[in-house]
Amino acid sequence: MITVIGSMNMDLVVKSEAPPLRGETILGESFDTHPGGKGANQAIAVAKLGGEVQIAGKVGSDTFGKEMIANLHDHGVDTQYVQKVPDTTSGVALITVAENDNSIIVVPGANYLFEPGEASALRTLIQSSQMLIVQLETPLPFVEMLVSIAFHEGTPVVVNPAPAQTLNISFIQQATYVTPNETECAILFEEPIEEAIARYPNKLIVTQGVKGALYHDGANPVRIEGFPVQAIDTTGAGDTFNGALGLGLAEGRSLTEAVRFANAAASLSVEHFGAQSGMPKRERVERRLR
Ligand code: ADP
Repeated sequence: MITVIGSMNMDLVVKSEAPPLRGETILGESFDTHPGGKGANQAIAVAKLGGEVQIAGKVGSDTFGKEMIANLHDHGVDTQYVQKVPDTTSGVALITVAENDNSIIVVPGANYLFEPGEASALRTLIQSSQMLIVQLETPLPFVEMLVSIAFHEGTPVVVNPAPAQTLNISFIQQATYVTPNETECAILFEEPIEEAIARYPNKLIVTQGVKGALYHDGANPVRIEGFPVQAIDTTGAGDTFNGALGLGLAEGRSLTEAVRFANAAASLSVEHFGAQSGMPKRERVERRLR
């Protein structure tokens, strides 16, 4: 079983020809809702690849919360550890798309209602998992506790440090794998990628879009090439990568093979619109790997 502990957001997407000026009311062209959030996306990436996965997180007492749980469940994610918090709103991302640009406001809502002490209630869950996957869309002190528990219980953990924020060295040391993209890596380490990966061999895996991913094996840098594709929509590429990496490692692949599996899965996701809807099933990934 793979356990994801993290965020669930409803993306509310409004498209308009031009963005509204300050104080202005305009008519938009369309409105769509899509379940998202890095935690939910990464759990769904695992489920679509055929992995057994459960998610722990919090939603509000609104209809978005119910819809997000139903969506996870429909994709085969075990949602028994998702809590509905009374008198709270679910996490939402208000996305305005105009003139090919996105403006986004995220209101974390229930996602941010985790105290560090609540991590200990998840100890048994972590202990009995083959792999834990976490991100930084829930409060950092809570995620730090989760990683510390995983470290002491001997459960490997993938930390996707997004959105990037300053991390304690001990947190990075206790994480088994840390997977920033290039921008996040620069914020986290304030040094060139080559130096950062050498400092954390076989742990720090930096994703580099079409170039694939880079890590260090203790002796040399290792580049795992991406799969060149016609990119249509790169939202969810990182989430697909992280879900696939966690699953690939949990299934016993070497780091090199798991990163290759993750690159293949993520390259398939960018060929389709949507974060969750673009995530591939396993057989398409295996075909790409042949
Ligand atoms: P994020 O989506 O978090 O910004 P990246 O852009 O580094 O992260 O993408 C994550 C992974 O998705 C990459 O390591 C790669 O495997 C895959 N990927 C992203 N963009 C492309 C692309 N244009 N073509 C092929 N693969 C891609």
